Amino acid sequence: MAQVSMPKYLTGDPAAINDFIDKFDVFLFDCDGVLWSGDHLYEGVVETLEMLRSKGKKTIFVTNNSTKSRPEYLKKLTGLGIPGHVDEIFGSAYSSAIYISRILKQPAPKNKVFVIGEAGIENELREEGIPFIGGTDPNLRREMTPEDWQGIADGSMLDPDIGCVLAGLDFHINYLKLSIAYQYLRRGAVFLATNVDSTFPINHNFFPGAGSIIIPLINMTGQQPLSFGKPSQAMMDAIEGKFQLDRERTCMVGDRLNTDIKFGVEGKLGGTLAVLTGVSKKEDWEKEDPEAVPSFYVDALSDLRAGAHA
Ligand SMILES: [Mg+2]
Repeated sequence: MAQVSMPKYLTGDPAAINDFIDKFDVFLFDCDGVLWSGDHLYEGVVETLEMLRSKGKKTIFVTNNSTKSRPEYLKKLTGLGIPGHVDEIFGSAYSSAIYISRILKQPAPKNKVFVIGEAGIENELREEGIPFIGGTDPNLRREMTPEDWQGIADGSMLDPDIGCVLAGLDFHINYLKLSIAYQYLRRGAVFLATNVDSTFPINHNFFPGAGSIIIPLINMTGQQPLSFGKPSQAMMDAIEGKFQLDRERTCMVGDRLNTDIKFGVEGKLGGTLAVLTGVSKKEDWEKEDPEAVPSFYVDALSDLRAGAHA
């Protein structure tokens, strides 16, 4: 078995905390399970972020949640008392929109996107000038009619300009949307996913995540989508491109080994910090064949404050 060094525990160790903070210029933060749980902000988070910013550190909030666009996500941050700027937010919907407009660059008119998902995706596509249908269209939030079966089967209900299906968390997923998306994929549309998280944490519990909404399409087509949320390195490349960061001086902070910590490790960042206020626990990296092992860990993010005046 490969020798993996165990993470350094920082809670209650001011000298180690100071060394840790000095190693980095940029901190990428996962949000849920790190800063808050649902609508409950963890104690000391605002002060911890202030402390890091006062030391000249850049703070970037990286979220797989595609249901909110960046301005909407900023509202969530400020509503919870965390001062921030829209440019500090990087979400999977934004990451997907950037990919479609700047990398995929399908030639018009076959550059239209069929969306499975909520307004967050639509807003980011609109911002990048990408034409789309589906998404929150109320006409797709209904039962199948005999006309639908026929129109989907013979293609008369399908838009010939769809070049890509972008799927994310959709609170109104149904048979009609899946049937339409499936036909576009069969006709050669590029299959993209904002993220493939199995679950969505909210109200101190878990609900089906984007990955669980997308599974039927994977099952039907036998294809895997290109995904933009953590741990996808497509997202890391996009973040690096946007912020021009030095990976060696960047630390990923998160609560989930298989998304956040893996994202930082595979992105070859200078370090990763696991916080134990969310999904993953110490046992998860101590077991055999862990999904990822962080380089540092704390019980809670606010434990970093202990280093501030040491
Ligand atoms: Mg999290």
